[in-house]
Amino acid sequence: MDFDVEKIRQDFPLLSQKVHGHPIVYFDNGATTQKPRQVIETVRRYYEEENASIHRGVHFLSERSTETYEKAREKVRKYINAASTNEVIFTSGTTGSINALAFSFGEKHLGPGTEVIITEMEHHSNIVPWQMVCERKGAKLKVVPFNEKGELVMAEFKKLLSDKTRIVAVTQISNSLGTINPVKEIIRLAHKSEVPVLVDGAQAIPHESIDVRDLDADFYAFSGHKAYGPNGIGVLYGKEKLLYDLPPYQGGGDMVDCVSFEKTTYDQLPFKFEAGTMNYIGAAGLATALDYISGIGLDRIREYEKYLLEYATMKLMTVSGLEIYGNAAEKISTISFLMDGIHPYDAGMVLDKLGIAVRTGTHCTQPVMDHFKITGTLRASMAFYNTTGEIDRLHAGLHRVREMFG
Ligand code: PLP
Repeated sequence: MDFDVEKIRQDFPLLSQKVHGHPIVYFDNGATTQKPRQVIETVRRYYEEENASIHRGVHFLSERSTETYEKAREKVRKYINAASTNEVIFTSGTTGSINALAFSFGEKHLGPGTEVIITEMEHHSNIVPWQMVCERKGAKLKVVPFNEKGELVMAEFKKLLSDKTRIVAVTQISNSLGTINPVKEIIRLAHKSEVPVLVDGAQAIPHESIDVRDLDADFYAFSGHKAYGPNGIGVLYGKEKLLYDLPPYQGGGDMVDCVSFEKTTYDQLPFKFEAGTMNYIGAAGLATALDYISGIGLDRIREYEKYLLEYATMKLMTVSGLEIYGNAAEKISTISFLMDGIHPYDAGMVLDKLGIAVRTGTHCTQPVMDHFKITGTLRASMAFYNTTGEIDRLHAGLHRVREMFG
């Protein structure tokens, strides 16, 4: 395969680290990804040469900083193929984006007798904000189940869609099962009933090419840190006509047009939704991260990660008593699993001593664990900088776990 992973790894300083005396194997990319030098350099250069608050000053640095921030917005627009930069709102991350939308949308459109549809495989970030707003507004939350392979039951979704539904909020890719959901079809069906759809793209952005217009998504949320960018920056995309009608989520500096004690008017899109001093340095880092991904190419990333998924699945299945949770036909390179009779924390701790970082626990998807009647799993989530050699080390590590715990 034409994929020079060793060359790519050289861009990621953290990957040359040792943990407990072993070269690190980082398989916790679903939680957060490591950063390439290019992103680290953007952030460093910004602090050293450009740092000034955006949109506020006429001085040189402030204008330059504003320009970099708005260029980052344009970069995101292009990356997700939004129609206009007015549709790209910077937030603190996926959680920030979904909370903002749930609050604003709820204020405007939810009330007694209305319903919100989510799915059983959502991250808590796409459950709790909707639960909170439903409680506040007297609306009901409806949940689409998934089957034993970890695929959404589309027939149930169709049954739940009704004239009471006001919005559908669905993850494009499950962080604990790896399932790639048919979001385009979900959006098509929802639109037939004139219902808008929020797509949680937190796990999709590092693995898939995103075209919000092709998807016809009404809202799309993602985090920079899961796509090789800095922490504390994210995006809420929304169709301009829908955002225009929504009230702001937070009040403060920069989001206003005119403030008086009698009445305040709000700024235009997208600034109406960006209160306070935004994370402009994070936005610049995110733009560099998106360039970095584009430089490798999402088609090549997909192909290589598919190879990693197949190799790892084949290897893990040879470990006795190991069960994989999430066997959807369409999956990203994330594998959740358990070894019978062994607590995931015990296994995770042994792997850690061998320098292997996997995630253990519920992965902020307690309903997924409830579905399988388990308390948690181990999760290996792989990125394009991982190697088959590292999978071999995980495989050997799991044999060691088996030896130790019987
Ligand atoms: N949605 C999904 C599917 C996720 O995997 C995550 C994080 O793991 C989130 C939302 C929340 O992302 P963040 O913590 O970056 O806001």
